[in-house]
Amino acid sequence: MHLFDAHNHLQDARLDAHRTAILSNPTAHTMVVAGSGEDDWAEVASLAQAHSCVLPSFGVHPWYVKEQSPEWRERLEALLAQFPKAGIGEIGLDRWIENADVDLQQRFFIEQLALAARDNRAASIHCLRAWGLMEEMLRASPRPERGFLLHSYGGPAEMVSSLVKLGAYFSVSPYFLHERKAKQWATFAEIPLNRLLIETDAPDMWPPTVINPHPLHDQEGKEINHPANLELMYESVAKLRGMTVEDLAAVVQGNFQRLFGAA
Ligand SMILES: [Zn+2]
Repeated sequence: MHLFDAHNHLQDARLDAHRTAILSNPTAHTMVVAGSGEDDWAEVASLAQAHSCVLPSFGVHPWYVKEQSPEWRERLEALLAQFPKAGIGEIGLDRWIENADVDLQQRFFIEQLALAARDNRAASIHCLRAWGLMEEMLRASPRPERGFLLHSYGGPAEMVSSLVKLGAYFSVSPYFLHERKAKQWATFAEIPLNRLLIETDAPDMWPPTVINPHPLHDQEGKEINHPANLELMYESVAKLRGMTVEDLAAVVQGNFQRLFGAA
């Protein structure tokens, strides 16, 4: 059974001490490794070059829009030319962080979504506390024909069907296994099966400690999420959907291949 992680950040420095072990596992899953800005694109690129299980995605995350150089766009275009199968992301909108410059976030988002639409690349989208604006912008903009991923979808269940019509896929992360996220977890029982994906968002979004099969800590002893928690997610989502893990895996594989175009 081959598993697909629709979204993680394997390039993240918090995984430095663990990355070799993670990648030397012969059953390493196929994973979309998403960059977040000029600072980490080179690491994402070299992971993709060295490991066939890594599908790269390049973009500017809404948290980092203020830190990009005036050349960010040229640098992004150069990487896209070098990696014709790469996705665009992580891009998005976030009103949750302090001092969010939403106007600047919108400019970066629109510009990067346009690149995804132009090349028909999968866009990986982050959204926190900005769902109305996100839907409005998606509706008003050219979108990639193959669709886009709303990663770690935290929006309302009522918005799912209109987002589906715009081309959305939805991925669920281990964080939603926490008791306090029960309502969001239940939303994933209603996502159309042909738009459902699974992610770890490692090193972020770890599951509750009591059910965490792969507890992991960074250099400073802080809890982080292990990409191998993908298996826990497949088991948990299969239970939620009343399916066998094998049936779910076949569905997710088809969805992943349609959106990200990878075997
Ligand atoms: Zn992410």
